This record gives sequence, structure tokens and C-alpha cells, in this order.
Amino acid sequence: MIFIAALIGILIGILINRGADNLPPPPRRSLLETPRCPYCDSPRAPLEQFGIVAFALRRDKCHQCGAPLRLRAPLVEIVTGALFAFLAARYSFNLYLVIICLFTAVLVLITVIDLEHKLILNVVVLPATLLALLASPIVLGGPDAALATWNWNRVVLSLLGLGVGYAMTLAIYFFGILFVRVINRNRKTKINTVAFGLGDVKLAGLLGALIGFPAIFYALIYAILLGGIGAVIALVLRSTQKGKYTAFTAIPYGPYLVLAGGAFLIFGNELLAWIIGP
Ligand SMILES: [Zn+2]
Repeated sequence: MIFIAALIGILIGILINRGADNLPPPPRRSLLETPRCPYCDSPRAPLEQFGIVAFALRRDKCHQCGAPLRLRAPLVEIVTGALFAFLAARYSFNLYLVIICLFTAVLVLITVIDLEHKLILNVVVLPATLLALLASPIVLGGPDAALATWNWNRVVLSLLGLGVGYAMTLAIYFFGILFVRVINRNRKTKINTVAFGLGDVKLAGLLGALIGFPAIFYALIYAILLGGIGAVIALVLRSTQKGKYTAFTAIPYGPYLVLAGGAFLIFGNELLAWIIGP
């Protein structure tokens, strides 16, 4: 069972790679189109679309221009396979497992696109938010109670999570804009990057709908703490490279949101018991 889950995860990973290749503009392409080489724009050969296979068979170069394939493709397939295997080992096989796997795949896709393009796409995050609201009677019920007791009140908790996710991150977003305005008043070279973008707001809404209230409140606080630690590490690393030091460089917050939100999605009960007490 775990082996089959890993295999399905790898196949879904291939789809995630396709999404990460085709969805970000410009130009946005549909998932049905063959991904193209970013260097010569020729369509990928069939083998080149399967990361693990391409690298295993040493077909890891574009057949047209010879540009190397990105290591991202096999990496995403392996990570998704491992995540699915872990989830299959943790939950018994039912609708809950399928839905959690689906949202895990969506969060991996969002993370990959955000890391590569600093973008959180509406075409991914908005349908996923709607789906999270619809699936909340199952997701918020937890793995055991989900199907035994159907409770529509969980939709209210999901909507509340959505609202709190938007409200908290919108507040940070506007604070960020204000902060940049104040800083720019005394600087010759203006900053025009905001650390926390509207994409992050939409992602926080999705996570809120997915893990509900009050989990989203804690998840966002941990995401901000993680992001702060990550920013400090990035600054230290950057300052060791001479001449490349720039303060106030925007880091994508998306991966931190996904990390904290994903942790609450899977370990929510344990984490809340640990924070609030049993
Ligand atoms: Zn090429």
C-alpha cells in the first residue's frame, strides 16, 4: 500500500512539474500542452518530461539545444512520492487520505512556483480555496471522525479560518507598504519590494480554509517566525559574499506559509494540544 502510494506520488509529481512549467506566465500554457525548453522553446521530448527517468537514463539534456534539465523535476517527483508514502503510512485508506494527498500536491505546486517565480498564481490558489471550503467537513473532521460524523459546522470553522488568514496577512501587507514608505523617505535608492505580497495573502486564505480556525492563527505566527529566521540566515549568507549585500531584499514567504500550514494540516491535533494544552 505504501509502495503504491509512493508510485502514485511520483506520477502526481510529474503532473506538478508540468504545472510548474506551463502555468506561470508569460505565456501561460494549459496543462495539456507539452512543456517547452526555457532556453530554445522547443517542446520537450517524451522522455524529458519524466524527471527521475530522464536523469536515470542520462537523458537530462534538451534534445534540441543541449541545455541541462533542471534538477527540480526529479526532486519534485521524489518529494511528492515520499510525502504520499508518509501519508499512506499515517492514515488508513479512505477519502480523507485521498483529499489530504490532493491538497499536499497543490501545496507542493504552489511552493515550486513561488520559489522559481516569486508568484502565487490565482489559477492555482483560488480554485484550491473553494475546494478546501467544500472539503472542510472531511478535512476538519480528522482522519477518524471525518466520514462517521458529517458536521456542517466544520464549514463555519473553515470560513472563519479563511477570514482570519486574509485579515492577519492583509494587516501585515499594509504594514509592509507603510514601512517601505517611511524607510524610502530617508533613502536615496528607493526600495520597491514588499516582503509580504498579495499572493501570500491569498495563500494564507487557502491555508485558513484548509486547517480552519484557530489552527490558522497559530500557523501564521509560526510561518512569520520561520520566515524571520530564514531571512536572518539569508542575510548572514549574503553578507559573506562580498559586494552582494543588500538589506531589505524580499524573500518569498510562500514556502514558510506552506511549511507551517502543512504541519498543522497533518499534525494539527498534536500541535494544538501542545500549544493550548490538552
Ligand atoms: Zn532547448
